[in-house]
Amino acid sequence: MWPSGAKLAFAIRDDDISYFTSTEMFKRVHRPALSKGFPLSCAVIPEHRSSNNPNVPPKMRALDSRFPVSENEMLVDLLKEMLHSGRLEIVQHGLAHNEDRVEFTRSEFEGLTLDETKARVRRGREVLRRVFGCQIATFVAPQERLTRPLLRALSEEGFACYCGSAFSSPAEHRLRLLAHGDDLWRLRWRLKEGGLRTRPVHLIPSFDLYSGHLSRLFKAGRDVVKDVRQGILEALKRESYFVVITHSWNFYHEWDSIRPLMIDTYESILEFVDSLGGDVWKCRLSDVARAATEGVGGVPPS
Ligand SMILES: [Zn+2]
Repeated sequence: MWPSGAKLAFAIRDDDISYFTSTEMFKRVHRPALSKGFPLSCAVIPEHRSSNNPNVPPKMRALDSRFPVSENEMLVDLLKEMLHSGRLEIVQHGLAHNEDRVEFTRSEFEGLTLDETKARVRRGREVLRRVFGCQIATFVAPQERLTRPLLRALSEEGFACYCGSAFSSPAEHRLRLLAHGDDLWRLRWRLKEGGLRTRPVHLIPSFDLYSGHLSRLFKAGRDVVKDVRQGILEALKRESYFVVITHSWNFYHEWDSIRPLMIDTYESILEFVDSLGGDVWKCRLSDVARAATEGVGGVPPS
C-alpha cells in the first residue's frame, strides 16, 4: 500500500508558521520529531494579519496590519535549510489567516466570491513560491474552515491536497459530514484498487494536539496518549494514514513559558510511532496525497 511495504503513512502538520514564529520555540517543540527522522509539513501564513488570534504574540495582537513571512529571515533560512535536506514541506495556510481584527474565529475566506477567493489563494501561493523557491501542492484552510468557492479555487488552481474539517455555514457543515464519509470511503477503497482518481485529495487530520482540546480530554478523565495509540493502531490495521496537527506557539502559555504536558504528550506519541519501525512511513502530507492518487507510493524524504 505505502512505500517499502509500510502499513501506515504518518505525517505531522505544524500550523500557523508565520512572521511571528520564533525559531527557538519551533526547534524546541520539534526537536524529538526531527531527531527521529519525522519530516514536517509546515502550514505557513504568507502575510499574517495581526488579529486577536492567540496565534499572534500578545503584544502584536490587533494591530490592524499584515506581516509578511519573508521579513522573518531567521525562520526563512531555517525552513529553507530543512526543505533542501528533505525534512520539510511548505504548505500554504491561506494568505492572512484572519481579516477581522477582533473576531478571530472567522476565516479570511468567509463570504468571499470565487474570484476573490482565487485572488487570495494565488497571491499567498506566489509569496510562498518566491520566498521558499519551491512548488506548493498542499493547502490548509485557516481555522479549518472550508467554503465552496475555496474548494473550487483549490481544484482549479491544481492543488494536490487540502485540509479543512468544517464548513463556514451550518448547512454546508452538514453536507461536509457526508462528504467526509465519502472521502474516507474513497481513500480506503481506491487505495486498494490502485489509486484515488479525484484531486485534490482531502486529507482529514486524525488528532489535533491543541492545549484547549487536550485539557478538555484530561478533564474528562481520558488517557490521551493511550487513545492516540489506539487510533494509530487502528489506522495501521486499515493500512491508512494518521495526521497529527501541532502549533508550535501553542506549546507555550501566551508565547512565554512552555507547557510540559503538551511537550510530554507529543513526545510520547512520537516515541510510540517510532517504535513501530518499518510498519510506518514517516512522510509529508503531499507524499500521502501522491501515494493515494498514484497508487505507487511517493518518494520517502531522505
Ligand atoms: Zn491556523
